[in-house]
Amino acid sequence: MVTQEHESLLSETERSQGRVALRNNVAAASALADAVRSTLGPKGLDKMLVSGEGGVTVTNDGVTVLETAQVEHPTAKMLIAQSSAQDREAGDGTTSTVILTAELLQNALELIEMGVHPTLVEKGYRLASKEAMNHLQEISREATEEDSLRSVMTSLSGKSDEGVRRHLSQLAVSAATALATEINGKIEADPTLVKKVNDGGRPSTESELVSGLVIAKEPIHPEMEMFPDGGKILILDGGISRRKPDLDISLKVTDIGMTSALNAQELEDIKNRVDVITATGCNLLCARDGIDDDARGMLLDAGITAYRRIEKPDLELLARTTGALVVHEPTLAKREDLGNFTSLNTQTWNDVSQMQLIGSEKGGLTLVVRGTTKTRIDEVSRGFDDASGVACGLVRDPRILPGGGATQMALARHLRKIAPTVPGREQLAIEAFSGALESIPRILAENAGLSPLDEVLRLNAAQEKGGDWIGLNMYSGETESMYDAGIIEPLAVSLNAISGAMEAAVSVLRIDDVLWANQDPSIPDWEKADGSAGET
Ligand code: ADP
Ligand code: MG
Repeated sequence: MVTQEHESLLSETERSQGRVALRNNVAAASALADAVRSTLGPKGLDKMLVSGEGGVTVTNDGVTVLETAQVEHPTAKMLIAQSSAQDREAGDGTTSTVILTAELLQNALELIEMGVHPTLVEKGYRLASKEAMNHLQEISREATEEDSLRSVMTSLSGKSDEGVRRHLSQLAVSAATALATEINGKIEADPTLVKKVNDGGRPSTESELVSGLVIAKEPIHPEMEMFPDGGKILILDGGISRRKPDLDISLKVTDIGMTSALNAQELEDIKNRVDVITATGCNLLCARDGIDDDARGMLLDAGITAYRRIEKPDLELLARTTGALVVHEPTLAKREDLGNFTSLNTQTWNDVSQMQLIGSEKGGLTLVVRGTTKTRIDEVSRGFDDASGVACGLVRDPRILPGGGATQMALARHLRKIAPTVPGREQLAIEAFSGALESIPRILAENAGLSPLDEVLRLNAAQEKGGDWIGLNMYSGETESMYDAGIIEPLAVSLNAISGAMEAAVSVLRIDDVLWANQDPSIPDWEKADGSAGET
């Protein structure tokens, strides 16, 4: 019973409960999936995204569409967060995750409307997902080097043209190889160690990887030297600026002598800091903030090359690639904080002078992103992120699965086989899970202009005969071996997508009460209309 007092507590909110809440949430998930389903697969269409300021992005990347969309519905937001997590963790499979989640929810709703309790649906879904994870490993195979390249290329299918795709995939695989390091007995490769700089005016296929970090900065004094044979670096998360006298009283400076005394004190203060920096024995100083003009000459005289106003992410990359410890205050700088670099040079691209530093540690790679327009450069840059995410993922776990809907179809077939062995209504949920998986080959076919129903039947039959690696090749229109066709995906992408979609769907199923703050002007109209129907 809701007491009067409680009622009044909720007077500022709109509320939907039970079945209505679930229906609304499922509708939101489906609406979101509908927004990206046409981008799935190599024949997916592009979306043109127009920002409030009129900026235009053309993409067929699901997560880009979702992250750009201004979505207010809480369920839709949850799904977008899930898709972003997929992007971060696996580097691919973002659209598939959203589609799977929405399909799982739709099928769950059907069961619940039939009278199956949500907890039983959840139980069945968890069982199915666990079974799917196991079966995925069985279908998977170990990738050769060539397979890695082919699977990176698959992750870019539908994006850009063949030439750019091949080029970016090769760059991504080289980057992943260069970044591979052993940490606690495991091979790791971290794609965030690649720095990107843009260089307009040349075709995308001329994008290249260069060793070290390239940062569009010049030394603070033109006579400061480069160190092609390496040296020591001090990284300062701060600057060297004049400190205002630390006094509470306000001084009335009337006397000229007093001003110059103050000035002399400030100078002395700067000199002290430069002295401490010099005493560390560094050759190179990279600072986040400004460096006072008076410090410039002192650093030059001390033989230290200095760069200022380096952005925080670049500073962090510099620290990682040189092994330096970031210092926050010049007077605290110590010799042990220094990192090592093997060379410091200047490069000029597009008339912009760039610092190029090669660190002593792993990492420190820069992708020079080229393209004739800003839009093109952005697309290439996003493409490389996808590609390097996948390539680095394969360094960690080199197992691969078939694309073209083969994996999902194989899982669906497997789950259908085991469903009857599960007693009770969970069986229905396992079948529902199986149906959700089939949405992937179905939508791939649909986006290629084929009949979704016929293609799924054809694929099912073809797998019965030819095994789990048979999928739909959208370029040739054939059902054939995905391995031979080079349509390959990392195992980790599917593992992540399936478990992520299952978790997201289950957490939506558990919601039984949605409270909207009434002040929120962004409640979608259909949400209001449904919610006010008053049904529970
Ligand atoms: P996601 O964001 O989920 O990665 P994509 O638009 O990248 O979505 O599409 C990925 C799907 O397209 C995967 O299921 C993959 O197997 C499939 N795919 C890629 N290339 C082909 C192809 N040549 N033929 C059929 N399916 C393909
Ligand atoms: Mg993809």
